[in-house]
Parts: sequence; structure tokens; C-alpha cells
Amino acid sequence: MSTDNLSSSVIFPLGEKVESPNFSGAVWMNMLTPRDSACPVGNVTFEPGCINSWHTHAGGQVLLATGGRGYYQEWGKPARELHAGDVVEIPQGAKHWHGAATDSWFVHLFILVNPEIGLTTWLEPVSHEEYSLLK
Ligand code: MN
Repeated sequence: MSTDNLSSSVIFPLGEKVESPNFSGAVWMNMLTPRDSACPVGNVTFEPGCINSWHTHAGGQVLLATGGRGYYQEWGKPARELHAGDVVEIPQGAKHWHGAATDSWFVHLFILVNPEIGLTTWLEPVSHEEYSLLK
């Protein structure tokens, strides 16, 4: 892959390419603490145009944007554009998605909080029509 406009955003190694129906394109995941840690932390890198499906985290999640341009959207609310340095605190059980803008890579760290309450539940994909309206 080309990383020309990505290399300055890379702080943590990309990790493994993830093949999952819960992402609309190519994504790389690097768990920085174990998945069964008391506080799972990972780095996620989305190729341009790649987003995840609607989902919930029973215990909540925090996103720390570190590079590129992307979006976070909570069900029923407008999408929020994200850049390096932005922080998103996702409430327990809130239905949401996150990922890259159509024309940019996007990199964020995630912290799964209160993982003892429960983990991630994957739901339906974001409608292409809705995503394509974002600039
Ligand atoms: Mn999430």
C-alpha cells in the first residue's frame, strides 16, 4: 500500500491486516495491550473510504485520533469529523461507527473501558448513501 500521506501519522506499528465483514475496506489492527487485559488498547488504521459497521461497546470506548481525517457518528446524531488530537468518549451501549473519510487515511487508538461489563456487538453496515454525503 502507499503510505506517502500516512507515514507522518504512524506512531505505533500498523499491526495485522484485518479481514472482517464489519469493515467496509482494508484496516490494520495492532493490539497494544492483550485483548483480555483489564484495559484493552489498540491502534487501528483505516484506508481511505474504509469505515466500520454500526456497533456498540457494552462498557464504552474512548477514541484518540492520531492521524489523517475520519468520522465518528452516534445513532441519531450528525457525524463528527475527526483529526489528530481529537478525543471521543463513547457512552456505554451507544450505537455508533467510526472510520476514514473517503479521501484520507485515518488512524486512531481505541481504549475499551469497563470491559468486564461486556465487549463489542456488531450491527448493520452504515448505508452507502449516508456515508457518501460526508465530505
Ligand atoms: Mn467503536
